[in-house]
Amino acid sequence: MASRSHRPYWSELEAAPPAEIRTLENEKLVRQLAHVADASPFYRRKFREAGVGFDDIRTTHDLQRVPFTEKDELRKSQEAHPPLGEHAAVAMERVIRVHSSSGTTGRPSYVGLSRSDRDGWTEMVARCLYASGVRPESRIVYAFSIGFFVGGLPNKDAIEEIGATLVPIGTGASERLVSAVQHLGVDQITCTPSYVQYLAEFIRSNHGLDPTSLGIRTIIVGGEPGGGVPAVRQQIESEWGAKCFDAMGNADLAPVFLGECPAQAGMHFCGQGYLFPELIDPESGERVPIEEGAGGELVVTHIDRECVPLIRFRTRDRVVVWTDPCECGRTGLRLRCVGRTDDMLIVRGGNVFPSAIKDVIVAHRPETTGELVIELDHPGPKVEPPVRILVEHGPGVVGHALQELADTLEEELRRKLIFRADVQLVAPGTLPRYEMKAKLVRLREGA
Ligand SMILES: [Zn+2]
Repeated sequence: MASRSHRPYWSELEAAPPAEIRTLENEKLVRQLAHVADASPFYRRKFREAGVGFDDIRTTHDLQRVPFTEKDELRKSQEAHPPLGEHAAVAMERVIRVHSSSGTTGRPSYVGLSRSDRDGWTEMVARCLYASGVRPESRIVYAFSIGFFVGGLPNKDAIEEIGATLVPIGTGASERLVSAVQHLGVDQITCTPSYVQYLAEFIRSNHGLDPTSLGIRTIIVGGEPGGGVPAVRQQIESEWGAKCFDAMGNADLAPVFLGECPAQAGMHFCGQGYLFPELIDPESGERVPIEEGAGGELVVTHIDRECVPLIRFRTRDRVVVWTDPCECGRTGLRLRCVGRTDDMLIVRGGNVFPSAIKDVIVAHRPETTGELVIELDHPGPKVEPPVRILVEHGPGVVGHALQELADTLEEELRRKLIFRADVQLVAPGTLPRYEMKAKLVRLREGA
């Protein structure tokens, strides 16, 4: 594979003419549906109930006749038909690995992989990492959880497939991470955005070092929003003197299938030949044409999956897409996630995404530390204004400046995000820090 390292893309498909990709998608969709019809009782029932025959669907255009698949259906299917659910389409002896999706409610949901599924994941993740600058000569610290988490082993597989030097640190080992970076000449890190921010604080306070002195040039973040939040990205880049790349995936689809190139003009869709993406209006469910500037919910169909193929899976990710050519030459759509329907709040009928609130708060560093928690009296998404937001003020903010800061933030949230906030300032370092996913919303104690 050495020759691959000099290519501008990991796969030629990333720069293929769109018509070629459409042909490939249609061919693979037909094959995928034949497998699903043969091996998935879950989809046989769904298609029957919707009055759609598998043979009626010959192109991705026809897919619009097929009902969506919701995460909740998968959970129920798995509970009723353990271990992997009625949607699992291969026998357990062909499953070579099981991951767990980091579900926030109740029983975790398990995702099985056949050998071919594992190879497909490796390919997609490698395309994304390669787009963000991972090369055979890279030395990359891996600081996600390596265990059950879907971003774990698949990222390891892809880094090794590219031929970069993997330094698997995992989470909860900041001290070890710093020595590895210093001893091994590491120049790249991949982890969550909250962890890389925590790490900068850790290096300053525990080592008295400026994080820029460590020589990290590339930071690839994922697992939670942040890399796509402009103020958070800017903060990470200036703290580390590095370029910060956002990456995204979905445990039920592929761990990473969206990654950024150095143009950082939205994440490139890198699932060509494995996934078919659609955009829908989340309210009406109608397909939204994928064109420059379009917005909607991302819906994805597996077109080359053996174990748990999903048809029209609703990701609950609200995205904006771009289709104008990118300077890197990749031809697929690019997108940015503006929030998840799951943690979206509805304030007086308006949609408010916690990541957008984060953007406002982080932009006010160093008057704030950038840390916040939205505290609700009742479970969302509907929230009565004013929305209580605990924000850590910066170390230098005292006296009158505190009230002024709270007023400024409330005013800016009202102007930019159109809702009334009740900003309560708390001392720096008092809100929880997370190595994995930051929790921006919580229920007030006793609520
Ligand atoms: Zn690009």
